Formats: sequence, structure tokens, C-alpha cells
Amino acid sequence: MNDAPLQLFNSLTRSLETFVPVHAGEARVYTCGPTVYNYPHIGNMRAYVFADILGRTLSWKGFKLTHIINITDVGHLTDDGDAGEDKLEKMAAEKARQGEKADIWQIAKHYTEAYWDDVKALNIRQPAKWSIATDYIADMLDFAKSIADKHCYELDSGLYFDTSTVADYGRLARAVTEDGEGRIDTVEGKRHAADFAIWRKTPPGEKRQMEWDSPWGKGAPGWHLECSVMGERLLGFPFDIHTGGIDHREIHHPNEIAQNQAFCGCGGLDDARNSGARIWMHNNFLVERSGKMSKSAGEFLRLQLLIDKGYHPLAYRMMCLQAHYRSELEFSWEGLGAALTRLKRIVMAAERLQDVAATSADHPKLAPLLDKFDAAISDDLNTPIALTALEDALAVKKIDLGQKRALVEQMDDVLGLDIFGMTRESLRLRPKDAQLSDADIEDALTRRNQARADKDFATSDAIRDDLAAKGVEVMDGDPLGWEWKLS
Ligand code: AMP
Ligand code: ZN
Repeated sequence: MNDAPLQLFNSLTRSLETFVPVHAGEARVYTCGPTVYNYPHIGNMRAYVFADILGRTLSWKGFKLTHIINITDVGHLTDDGDAGEDKLEKMAAEKARQGEKADIWQIAKHYTEAYWDDVKALNIRQPAKWSIATDYIADMLDFAKSIADKHCYELDSGLYFDTSTVADYGRLARAVTEDGEGRIDTVEGKRHAADFAIWRKTPPGEKRQMEWDSPWGKGAPGWHLECSVMGERLLGFPFDIHTGGIDHREIHHPNEIAQNQAFCGCGGLDDARNSGARIWMHNNFLVERSGKMSKSAGEFLRLQLLIDKGYHPLAYRMMCLQAHYRSELEFSWEGLGAALTRLKRIVMAAERLQDVAATSADHPKLAPLLDKFDAAISDDLNTPIALTALEDALAVKKIDLGQKRALVEQMDDVLGLDIFGMTRESLRLRPKDAQLSDADIEDALTRRNQARADKDFATSDAIRDDLAAKGVEVMDGDPLGWEWKLS
């Protein structure tokens, strides 16, 4: 059964809590989406694999899920103080300097679509809505107007939120003292270092590609405002779960929470619902030692780079699932290769179930495996253990295949590895710089087999060496029966 109580780690209380929906039978989830000034790196995509596992788990447990992921096409600055530039405006200016087309709306569209490609390739389900920040400017202005008198003050550079006007400011981050220690006080005239911009005025004499009229002059919204507004408009306060990467726990989400408290006239954060959401969840980072994750590095780690090198994108999903979302995960090509091998084993173990119709997983041999799976995923989304339950299920012997298929399907509904949508052939991608086609390789292997049958080992070795020189490793005696792989 899938009825173990779902325990989730709430960053606001720093403890595991049983999920109790705000609206009976429903789950409303908001995920901070990408800033579309550049391609997402694979670390960014870890955040959406995590949110997807959360959503799939809630659906599997029978909650009617409404999941919102936003697209940040305005407001996110290059620095977490308020003095940086808007990331999109900066990218547009850079492109213009390089003589490229620099229409900011086109840039946002291009990178939004690139992000959606990655979402699809990673088998991340479509949310109920992709909410685009610039579609909500009027709502942001209404929201800002409603809190301005009591909670904000105006400076030459914009409208600022006074963080001393709400109770428990910064509790989520655990790092902020009364005078905002540890924060960057980059704007002249702020009352407290932690105060932040709600509205950023366009400086006199300048023109931004994205700017709107407001009671505080022409300008653009602060980044934190958009998520408060879209969360409230689309899900209603309080909703169930708000997610993001762990960096958001420090500034973006404490600021969203402060705005939410101001908007609904809520009290302090001893009652988590006053924050706008009942549970705040954060995935830890994917880290990489050589700095390739930085988007300012030339060849940075995009999903497409993995694909170009011949790794199926779901191998990266597998890599994410092998770690708990709250643990740091270190990226390496060896690790990715190992994840791909594990995925191959799973797909091959499921091969016999491909054409079988699912019946019922209600069998004394299978029920404990479903319980193991449910216990793992209900324990704050413990995907590493859930994966082992899947492998146990595939290994069960002497069982009706329809029953086995039913069990594996259920598990894959949550894990999203698309086990029955893949074959061993579809998992083997051609690296972009591959020198040989599959047909060339098969042909060489046929000739090699013939040479071996003729005991002409000089020829067979020469063929093997030639393949190796072209990046193909011959796998004699591979237990899974793979004859070759790309090395
Ligand atoms: P951004 O596009 O910068 O707004 O980031 C999109 C999402 O990726 C946010 O939820 C970030 O917290 C998250 N994120 C950024 N870097 C990493 C990383 N290295 N590993 C995991 N998540 C990340
Ligand atoms: Zn956000």
C-alpha cells in the first residue's frame, strides 16, 4: 500500500513533519523556477528533479496536486544585495556588445524554451502552470501598494521593505541578527542591512528594456516580489509546500516570507502557515570541483553537454535519485557513467516485462517490497532506498509477470525513470564527436567474430584496437550481454 504517513523536512522548523494538507485531499506546491538569462546548468536541474519527485510522490499518495513553477524573466539581480544589475538586462547588454540580437524578450523566450527541453529530457512532469513573472506585473503592483504604507519606505533607488516591521524576520535563514549581520548593505539609506527592494526605479536618464510605470516611478519589480505574488494569486495563502535550492533559504525565501506576512497581516512564524506556505523545502547543491558549473565558464555543465558526450539524460536523473535531496551531490563523469550503467541494468531487467499487461501487485512476495518502497519515499523522499526497492522488485523470481509489472509501474510513477519507455538501444546515445556509426561498429564486430572463429587472433586483435582508437570498447563476456560501449 502507499499509505505510510508522508514525512517531509521543513526548513522553517528544521524538523521532519507529517504532511497534512491545508485543503483536504489536495496538495498545492510552488517551486521557484529558473532565471532565464542563460541555459540552466545541471545543478539548477537538480532542483526541478527534486520538485518533480515531490510532486509525483504527492500524486501517488492520492493528493490532487496543483504544482506551479515560475519563470523569472525579470528582477533577479547579479548580486544578492540590491546594487547588482538585472541578470536579463546584463545578458542583453553583453549580447549587444558582441553584435548579437539583444531583444530581452527574445532572450527570455530562447532560454525558457531551452529550460523546457531539459525538463522534458529529464522526464520532469509538466506543472499545472508555468507562471511567467512579467505576466504578473499588475498583480505585483497591487500587492506592493497594499503593503507599502505599513511596511515599506521610498529611497531614490526604489521602494524598500522594512524588515523590522514583521515578526521573526529571517528565521528561515537562521543567520540574521537584528542588525542584519552577514548581509550586504549595498544601498545607501537603507534602514536595516537586510531591507530589500520591492520596486527598483529606473535611474534618471536611463532606459531599461523592461520597465513599467508605478506609483514610485518607472522601474521594475524586485525579484522576491514575483514569487510572493504568483504564489498568492495561483495557490492562495497559505498553500502547502514551497520549494527551491538551498541558496534560496538564505535571502530569497526569508524575503518572500516577510512580504507574505505583511500581505496577509499575519503574525509570527511559530505558526508556519503565517509564512504563506506550511512547509518550506530546499534541495542541496550539486557541486563540481573544477568550476565547470559556473555559467561564466566557457563550456559549462549543461544537460546538452552530457548528451553530446553520449550520456542519456535520464542517467543524470538517476544520479540525482541516488543521493538524498538534502545531501550535497558531487558531480563526476565516473559517477554519471556508473548511474548510466545502473539505469541500463534496470532497463534490461525490465525487458521481459515490456509487453506484459499489468495486473495487480497484490502478492505475498511483492507486498513487502511495496511497503519498503513506500516507507522510503515517505521518509522525506528517500530515493536512494526507494531505488533499491525497485531493483529488489525486478529481481523477484517465480512470480506472475503481470503482477511484477504492476509493482514496477507503481514505483516508476514516483521515480520517473521511464523504465518502460526505454530500450537498451535508446539508452546508447551517439556522442557528438563519435567517429563510427552503429552500423560500422556492428560490421567490425562481425568481422572480428569471424576472425576469432577462424582462430586468426592477429586480425581480431587489430579490429579491437582499431575500434578502441575510434572510441569504441569491445566488451567480451559482459554479464549483461552488451557487446560494445563507447569509451
Ligand atoms: P536560478 O536560475 O539561479 O534562479 O536557479 C534555479 C534553481 O536552481 C534555484 O532553485 C536554485 O536554488 C537552484 N540551484 C542553483 N545552483 C544549484 C546547484 N549547484 N545545485 C542544485 N540546485 C541549484
Ligand atoms: Zn522564487
